[in-house]
Amino acid sequence: MEFSKPFAEMSYKGLVFMTAPTIPFTHGFTTRWGGVSEGYLDSLNLGENRGDTEENVRENYNRVFEALGLPEQKPCFTKQVHKTDVRIVTDEDRRELYTPFAYEADGIVTKVKGLPLFCFTADCIPVLLCDPVAGVAGAIHCGWRSTVADILSVAIAKMTELGAQAENVCAAIGPGIEMCCYETDAEVPEAIEKLLGGDCGDAYFAVGDTGKFMVDLKETCRKRLLQLGLKSGNISVSDECTSCNSDKYWSHRATKGERGSQAAVIVVS
Ligand SMILES: [Zn+2]
Repeated sequence: MEFSKPFAEMSYKGLVFMTAPTIPFTHGFTTRWGGVSEGYLDSLNLGENRGDTEENVRENYNRVFEALGLPEQKPCFTKQVHKTDVRIVTDEDRRELYTPFAYEADGIVTKVKGLPLFCFTADCIPVLLCDPVAGVAGAIHCGWRSTVADILSVAIAKMTELGAQAENVCAAIGPGIEMCCYETDAEVPEAIEKLLGGDCGDAYFAVGDTGKFMVDLKETCRKRLLQLGLKSGNISVSDECTSCNSDKYWSHRATKGERGSQAAVIVVS
């Protein structure tokens, strides 16, 4: 892992979120802290389908908007299904909470100013992208399946359609599960090898002769972004593992699925 400046922890009325040094647009990676949800959803759950009350989820969204200095509004987010669809979105893609999804996509990009793009995770890697020159932003859900299926190249291509240039694109690879906690079978490192064309570096290692591997999805995403033409100085990587820090972040593995969802949010600004 190359050196990158650390993420910063911000707090507004008890709501804690992280910001990345490489992203000049309004953005944030939420944590568990600062919401109103209770019990195993204590407290900043942004997932509609985690067993929370609608009232609590709506209040949590309002608090996120307030903390980010944004007006309360309909956000833009999609049904995430661990595939590679990336959608160019506009104001028409804003979604009222608790209404059916019009489509599935694991990434959204836009050049509409003020449109908040949300991506949800609870161990998967949230990647925020922006080209401050072209005024284009993206929020991409990088679980292992969408990562090895190359969702990041789809995302950069869609941003390019909107006028972005890879050499100007800034990226933040947010809080997610790290190598310390992410054990997989051989299919994951094999797919990473294929994705990166053998240029895997420290993206995984074998656990003795157990047939298991420890995998670094953040490093996989970082290497792929470099291959796609991003400058290394324009990429920052969160140094927090959601599973090791399950008091601060929602972690699917650490909670065995009894958990809320956090969001990575970015707005062209
Ligand atoms: Zn860990």
